[in-house]
Amino acid sequence: MNFAGKVVLITGASSGIGAATAVKFAKLGALLVLNGRNAENLSAVANQCASVGKQPHISVGDVSKESDVERIWEDTLKKYHKLDVLVNNAGIIETGSIENTSMEQYDRVMNTNLRAIYQLTMLAVPELVKSKGNIVNVSSVNGIRSFPGVLAYNISKIGVDQFTRCVALELAAKGVRANCVNPGVTITNLHKRGGMDEETYQKFLEHSKSTHALGRPGSADEVANAIVFLASDLASFTTGISLAVDGGRHAMCPR
Ligand code: NDP
Repeated sequence: MNFAGKVVLITGASSGIGAATAVKFAKLGALLVLNGRNAENLSAVANQCASVGKQPHISVGDVSKESDVERIWEDTLKKYHKLDVLVNNAGIIETGSIENTSMEQYDRVMNTNLRAIYQLTMLAVPELVKSKGNIVNVSSVNGIRSFPGVLAYNISKIGVDQFTRCVALELAAKGVRANCVNPGVTITNLHKRGGMDEETYQKFLEHSKSTHALGRPGSADEVANAIVFLASDLASFTTGISLAVDGGRHAMCPR
């Protein structure tokens, strides 16, 4: 795998899966644009990337805001004048069932996890068509299986899978691929930011030993490996796929 001279834009690169993906692309020679809301964390990730590859460009912004997405896209074009790979990774989780959710929660989760992907991809596609580039979206095992208690999140993620397949079909004739990864429980800041305290999170990770066939939660690095693979020429005949990176969780049925 070699991304020398390739421009890669990653949303949500200031933490977890996005940060691990950024470092991996940097090692493979990519020219990176890193997005997130937290400028300090983004700088720390950019420094990590610079220590193994080229210095990334940072574009701070909230992907749930249309004007920020437009600015992130303009920043990218202004800096590199092209795009080869778009990694739509930024996401949030919130707990809520049909009995206690709210329309505010629905909007927050959907705007960040799905609407932003729709908008940024729409803006980026003309450049991806020129470069015959590709898109990797970060969905979830929740995009292919159903779980109670995270209703808006589940809906947003199955939307990501359907979006990926449709866009893959729409752009295939133009030589642009679109795929997504579907991680299982991955050790990042996602769940704690979604409201789990430290003790609950540790119990959740312990429980993951039985909910994932491989007997453990995954690491951000393991998901990053799959993202980089799908973005690379090694995956040149793969489009429209939902690649589970979940220790077999998607294949399990309770018994
Ligand atoms: P983290 O919380 O560690 O990282 C989330 C990233 O998304 C951060 O960089 C954060 O940026 C960014 N982000 C969130 N909201 C916005 C926003 N409105 N605008 C810009 N950036 C935003 O979580 P993960 O690394 O785990 O999450 C990455 C993706 O992986 C998500 O889409 C998540 O749904 C998915 N996923 C994660 C799983 C897990 O178990 N961890 C399992 C399955 C899927 P900042 O902090 O700067 O605001």
